[in-house]
Amino acid sequence: MSSPQKTVAIIGGGPVGLAAAAHALGRDLRPVVLEAGDKAGQAVRQWSHVRMFSPWSHNVDKAAEALLREEGWNSPEPDRYPTGGELVAQYLEPLAARTKLSQHVQTNARVVSVGRAGFDKVQTAGRENAPFEIRYQNGKGTSTLHADAVVNASGTWDWPNPAGANGLAAIGEAANAKRIAYGAPDVLGAQRARYANRIVAVVGAGHSAVGTILDLAQLEKEEPATQIIWVLRGDTPDKSFGGGANDQVTARGELGKVFAQLVQGGGVRVETAFRLTHITTIGDKLRLGAGSACCGRYLETDELIVATGFRPDLSFLREVRTALDSALECPPILAPLIDPNLHSCGTVRPHGARELSQPEPGFYFAGMKSYGRAPTFLMMTGYEQVRSIVADIAGDKAAAERVELVLPETGVCRRPVTGTAEREGCCGGPAPARVGASARTILHGQS
Ligand SMILES: Cc1cc2nc3c(=O)[nH]c(=O)nc-3n(C[C@H](O)[C@H](O)[C@H](O)COP(=O)(O)OP(=O)(O)OC[C@H]3O[C@@H](n4cnc5c(N)ncnc54)[C@H](O)[C@@H]3O)c2cc1C
Repeated sequence: MSSPQKTVAIIGGGPVGLAAAAHALGRDLRPVVLEAGDKAGQAVRQWSHVRMFSPWSHNVDKAAEALLREEGWNSPEPDRYPTGGELVAQYLEPLAARTKLSQHVQTNARVVSVGRAGFDKVQTAGRENAPFEIRYQNGKGTSTLHADAVVNASGTWDWPNPAGANGLAAIGEAANAKRIAYGAPDVLGAQRARYANRIVAVVGAGHSAVGTILDLAQLEKEEPATQIIWVLRGDTPDKSFGGGANDQVTARGELGKVFAQLVQGGGVRVETAFRLTHITTIGDKLRLGAGSACCGRYLETDELIVATGFRPDLSFLREVRTALDSALECPPILAPLIDPNLHSCGTVRPHGARELSQPEPGFYFAGMKSYGRAPTFLMMTGYEQVRSIVADIAGDKAAAERVELVLPETGVCRRPVTGTAEREGCCGGPAPARVGASARTILHGQS
């Protein structure tokens, strides 16, 4: 007698969650994707104006592609670099809505807690045999799903880091929320009216900050009263310029060069070593303070854009036994490989079920979420993660251990910078393969 079909709950219908579901279907498992947004790819939709640094050939999962091909999918040009919006329109949307996956994706379904049916976190004996109980909210209230395994691919987009320099919100940050945006607002498109001919401060030093400042510089050309202030916590902007011609990543080097020219040419007012602690209003301006509310350094602006990276929401996992690195909030084995204290844009060995499983049997982190606070995730790495995780859930341990991701020797980031208005992520060159394996993966930084 064949064993009953296992149900796999997948939290998040982003690129990696949908890929996990495609792999699960391929192994005759029953995936249920719970997506908080009203459509799949909700997080990517928020940065739809950003051109990706990885080409189509690196953005499509193989199991997902097989499902799409059954429906007569016209695959995009592999060497082209899509925007986030094109990734949604030409890949995520058809995958979620027009393939066999469509019956397995529930939208408007925000997971609010996960536990084991009949067991609280403290009880041990027999818990591995109890199904997971996943509570999620939809328009009708709270619903429950029971599952044999859980893949948490819920990303980090909804949880941006605050403006405050010490990781705490600046005092007054919440009170002034109307004039503060997080992540990568579309300053040249949908948000243009908000930023045109205004003083705009951008806090952050990663690639989202750099991309936003380059976009604002373009806006300033078109709307000359726009003024840009770059607020840096560090003492020098040099790190954001990349390695120029010596950068191991061509695209990052080119972007860094363009950005360095802008900053060194005086196109942006730079405030280094500005450790933001207070946000108040003075007249019709926002007053950003470093030090204390009354004294110390301050500057005045109309708008503030906070591009200081993201952090994972772990609140709904309170009843799951997890083990996470105390600094990065990622599975501990990944931490030394992706630690931004050690790498700006380094390498990470291929990894899968073994590294992403948790003390709670049957529970796995995947995708952007699996990197915790590290700003260095790559979609392609996520596809390999879920291929391995799903094999593990299906009981195919050999496939779970195998590494199938192969990246070109040149790395994945070769997109030339074609204009200052285009945003860029960053990624490194090839990494040493896991001992005994021939494949390799890389990581990038796009906080
Ligand atoms: C500006 C920008 C540019 C990037 N460019 C690239 C690039 O060029 N190449 C690349 O490889 N990577 C890029 N990345 C990284 C990229 O975000 C990831 O590769 C990819 O989106 C990760 O997919 P994911 O499925 O893990 O997470 P996400 O895309 O974040 O998807 C997570 C999903 O989970 C949902 N969710 C969240 N909480 C819950 C909950 N409680 N219950 C149910 N659903 C929930 C969200 O709504 C979302 O749809 C970029 C990131 C940013 C911010």
